[in-house]
Amino acid sequence: MANREFFVGGNFKMNGSKEKVSKIVSDLNKADLPSNVQVVLCPPFPYLAQVVAENKQATIKVGAQNCYVKESGAYTGEVSPKFLKDLGVDYVILGHSERRQIFKESDEFVAEKVKFALAEGLKVILCIGETIDEKKAGKTLAVCKRELQAVVEKVEDWSDIVVAYEPIWAIGTGLAATSDDAESIHEEIRSYLSTVIGKQASTVRILYGGSANGKNAPTFRGKDNVDGFLVGGASLKPEFADIIKSRE
Ligand code: PGA
Repeated sequence: MANREFFVGGNFKMNGSKEKVSKIVSDLNKADLPSNVQVVLCPPFPYLAQVVAENKQATIKVGAQNCYVKESGAYTGEVSPKFLKDLGVDYVILGHSERRQIFKESDEFVAEKVKFALAEGLKVILCIGETIDEKKAGKTLAVCKRELQAVVEKVEDWSDIVVAYEPIWAIGTGLAATSDDAESIHEEIRSYLSTVIGKQASTVRILYGGSANGKNAPTFRGKDNVDGFLVGGASLKPEFADIIKSRE
């Protein structure tokens, strides 16, 4: 088994309220969580400071769901990595398929964001993954490589990047990839990474995302290249704690 710390991210997406976010955090505060799992809660921007303030678990960090490529200035509506650091936020999700598809973020723009966020001291959860049509056309690995390559061209040090393989057909559909399929593509992703970033590839965590839940998480046990999960819908529910504990 590879020596990479298990990682579970909770991507709340555009969900929550002060009350709901408080309930999620206070339930997690009461939970008996393993000390060797890195958990990152990613609420919408308006609730970041609240989660930082209310979280009492040493193993839980806070992440944003996006950020921009400038420190400050005339960029109405954008959020600087500096603000996130200032709030006590440690991570940012970049390149989520919803950003790529709905907000038309290109591979290059995502890569630029990754580079800037890292330079500003944030850690990055970099999402990659194919559509159902790309999967049917046998292009899964090609798409992942293309999305990774854009970042490889801009970033040399991958020690603060966590990759999340999130097949788009599995997101929010209830149709998670099987653990065998996930392991096989994760292995291919790692092997590709080793050709472009060398030895670092063995320490980069590769998470699985897409309808991960309390029930299917344990089926990924023993899959050497699945280093955790990026969880959407289930991160808003009590079963999120079960996912965090799924390697015990
Ligand atoms: P899901 O979302 O767990 O609701 O499928 C995962 C994600 O989009 O990060």
